[in-house]
Amino acid sequence: MALENYIRDIQGFPKEGILFKDITPLLLDSKARLECLEILVSTLKDKKIDKVIGVESRGFFFGILLAQELSVGFIPVRKPNKLPFATLSASYDLEYGSDTLEIHCDAIQKGERILIHDDVLATGGTAKAVCELVERLGGIIVQCNFIMELTLLNGRAKIAGNEIFTAITF
Ligand code: 5GP
Repeated sequence: MALENYIRDIQGFPKEGILFKDITPLLLDSKARLECLEILVSTLKDKKIDKVIGVESRGFFFGILLAQELSVGFIPVRKPNKLPFATLSASYDLEYGSDTLEIHCDAIQKGERILIHDDVLATGGTAKAVCELVERLGGIIVQCNFIMELTLLNGRAKIAGNEIFTAITF
């Protein structure tokens, strides 16, 4: 079965009017999960990734699998006040209000080659904030990859200039 069949549409989550793409069926199925991981990894051969970032919280699932597969370190980027050590923050606009993401300030050494992973590329605001954190720490963004991309929202435009890969396109 094609990977997109493991993504479930939930109407009205987390609030009315939103059609949420639920990845939990993909997480439940070990074969589909492995296939998704292999598709993501297949684009990373010879890219010399030093570390993988996973974005809280659904970016942690495949983020840690990718880091393990590539035998490199994993960096959690988290919501405010979740990381215990000194952090760097980046804020980004939402439809109503704004949100902030944080990274440990010693997570990346200057010149390290970084893979950014999250489950979904929607408007691109989240990914853009993560790119900003990596750049401020002197990291090199090798690729931003996602399980899926919601193309109507054109998130790619926000992180243009970076290599982008998505396993599934809606
Ligand atoms: P963006 O900042 O690109 O608009 O939104 C992407 C972020 O919001 C990701 O961290 C992702 O986890 C979450 N997100 C937005 N829409 C969806 C969705 O339909 N399904 C899932 N699983 N996550 C979403």
